[in-house]
Amino acid sequence: MDLRDISSPSALLRNLQGELAHATALSEYEAWWEREGKAISAAHDRAGTPWLKMFNVFGKRIDEVQCAPEYWKMLREGYTTGVIWRAMKEQSLKSSFRLGYICSFYDAGLFCPYTVSLSTLLPLSKYGTEDVKARFISNMLREDETAWQGATWMTEAGGGSDLGSYVETVARREGDHWMLSGDKYFTSNAVADVAVVAARPEGAPKGVRGLALYLVPKRRENGELNYGIRRIKDKIATRSVFTGEIELRNSEGYLLGNPEHGIYHILEVLNCSRVCNAIGSVGLMQRALADAIAFAQGRVAFSKPICEHPLLRQQIQERIVALEEAHALAWESVLLFDEVWKETPPYSDRFNLFRIVVHLAKYWTAELAVQTAKWCMEVHGGMGTLAEYGVERWLREAMILAIWEGPPHRQILDGIEAMERKGAHRLLFEHLAPGAEGRELGEMVRRVESHLTLPTDQREAHSEPIFRDLARFAGKALAQKMR
Ligand SMILES: Cc1cc2nc3c(=O)[nH]c(=O)nc-3n(C[C@H](O)[C@H](O)[C@H](O)COP(=O)(O)OP(=O)(O)OC[C@H]3O[C@@H](n4cnc5c(N)ncnc54)[C@H](O)[C@@H]3O)c2cc1C
Repeated sequence: MDLRDISSPSALLRNLQGELAHATALSEYEAWWEREGKAISAAHDRAGTPWLKMFNVFGKRIDEVQCAPEYWKMLREGYTTGVIWRAMKEQSLKSSFRLGYICSFYDAGLFCPYTVSLSTLLPLSKYGTEDVKARFISNMLREDETAWQGATWMTEAGGGSDLGSYVETVARREGDHWMLSGDKYFTSNAVADVAVVAARPEGAPKGVRGLALYLVPKRRENGELNYGIRRIKDKIATRSVFTGEIELRNSEGYLLGNPEHGIYHILEVLNCSRVCNAIGSVGLMQRALADAIAFAQGRVAFSKPICEHPLLRQQIQERIVALEEAHALAWESVLLFDEVWKETPPYSDRFNLFRIVVHLAKYWTAELAVQTAKWCMEVHGGMGTLAEYGVERWLREAMILAIWEGPPHRQILDGIEAMERKGAHRLLFEHLAPGAEGRELGEMVRRVESHLTLPTDQREAHSEPIFRDLARFAGKALAQKMR
């Protein structure tokens, strides 16, 4: 790959994906980031946690997040360019993900508001009643600066991995809508206009089977606030998305889909966010690599630029290959998602293939993003640890990419489950065969099949190495297919 392509996200997309639809919009979005967005994003990160103004001067609850006006400009640039509206207009998600990739190169945290907006729009368009769709969708699809934002709130204080045990929010039916009460502990894009929320309909059984998905707007029908923001989290990074805690108190909500399929609807939301996370991780990875290369070309040690020393030269080449393979894996999750996102349960084999690919992609790209960001700091030597040069930020951002939307263990165990129950590994191997080297493919098939015969405890205990190798293998085979 041409090194110049590494320094530009749209050039890398073109290089790896060929001729792009809406290439001008992508280049213009990138040019905007270079011209204005970069500086806004850096200042916003440095400013730290914003302030939550809970009351107006008359003591009325308003719950507004206060930060520099440039932040809202940066946020709105993505919405007007079409990170959300293009998905419905084009009935394809590819443009959203390409714009998300460019955004993530500059600010992976900012891709989160767009991610959760898309993850709200899709279930709303699939499972909302005609009345609910008429009331909310057009607001989310506005092409100007007034487009409504979405959010996806599942996690409560007890924990995010085990939603079945810890979602205590209850939904009580009242006429054509529901009233939700409970507390959500991690709520990204707390300033959203409408959110999808996991809750338990009154009287529903315990466990994941008793959960349903609701659409909850920020304002009640009478215009009053529908929920409160208790506080904004003070976190290490992804400051371009406001993560808060939300109090639902008899908050008006609308059931999405069939409550008996609630857990499937919730997992569809998570899977959309995982595709976004994979794209965001690769965007960040490219950025860290670009910054490392630029520094290594200018920094001189032992009489020559450090990038010309054999050890570093080799590391750079290996990182470029890893970037291509991670990109191929993440992009495959986009292409498959684009095929299956309209499916409803029971799902097809194509959906099961998507499931295994998205677990591999979410897991592996986030791990690589962390490793690449750490290496980028090391390439900068001591400078890498200084906030003024910006690269320490990529490691802070990457650490969160690995945890939200389900930490590594969740991706691994859910991926293994898809193999056991749905034979997803066989679908995957068939899919990868055109790009895979025959002997390597045979060896991978043998290892996975034999792993699946282990007793449950051992299968779980030893699942990480095999899942990691499968992800690497998939990325390599898919990159080969793309070349
Ligand atoms: C910045 C940020 C924003 C977030 N935004 C949102 C949001 O908008 N909406 C939302 O719903 N959630 C959000 N989350 C929550 C996020 O999805 C959870 O943090 C994540 O799912 C993990 O849940 P947890 O933090 O409760 O950890 P736990 O579930 O308590 O897990 C703790 C540790 O135990 C491990 N573990 C758990 N079970 C097992 C097992 N069976 N085997 C092996 N290891 C296991 C986990 O991997 C993890 O390492 C956000 C989180 C962060 C950090």
